[in-house]
Amino acid sequence: MAGRREPVGATTVLGRVQEMLGRLPGLGPKSAERVTHYLLNAPRADVMALADALRELKDRLRRCSTCCMPTEDETCPTCLDPRRDPALVCVVEQPRDQAVVERSGSFRGHYHVLHGRLSPLEGIGADRLTIDHLLERARAGQVREVIMATNPTLEGDGTALFISGLLAPLGVRVTRLARGLPTGSVLEFANSQMLADALEGRGAF
Ligand SMILES: [Zn+2]
Repeated sequence: MAGRREPVGATTVLGRVQEMLGRLPGLGPKSAERVTHYLLNAPRADVMALADALRELKDRLRRCSTCCMPTEDETCPTCLDPRRDPALVCVVEQPRDQAVVERSGSFRGHYHVLHGRLSPLEGIGADRLTIDHLLERARAGQVREVIMATNPTLEGDGTALFISGLLAPLGVRVTRLARGLPTGSVLEFANSQMLADALEGRGAF
């Protein structure tokens, strides 16, 4: 999760757009400059549609009251899907990780999105994540197993361990994705078969 940002320093419109774009992940100053000039020359309707979509992203999207996935409604379509098993909850760091697990096509349970991972170095503690909400779900008694699908990184492992310690006393079975995933790899880059195998071979914590 991004911390506080410095206010935009550039005074010209061009400079401001460039500076803000340059703060996006994966966009350095050069790419930001290229995108800015692309937008400048693009049809007005296209650029306005983009601006409207960005506004709606922040105005209309909220977190699902159950799994914390961004959604336009109180409850997301995944949580409402009656064919999915609500007793099986897969915990992921980010919404994009949920998309990765979904693409593997081998998981028919529910999800819980933490919106980050514990990072003592960056000062990200449990209060910044949706851990309390996950515990509430577990306490409500509907959850039988929680699969920790945080990234196999030091921080992802630490987060999984921390959460499993909180869930264990609640009588919830906690499992971790099998190490089909190379250590240090990020879930986002795992291929579907790899992930399906990791889900299949998940083990007790
Ligand atoms: Zn949901």
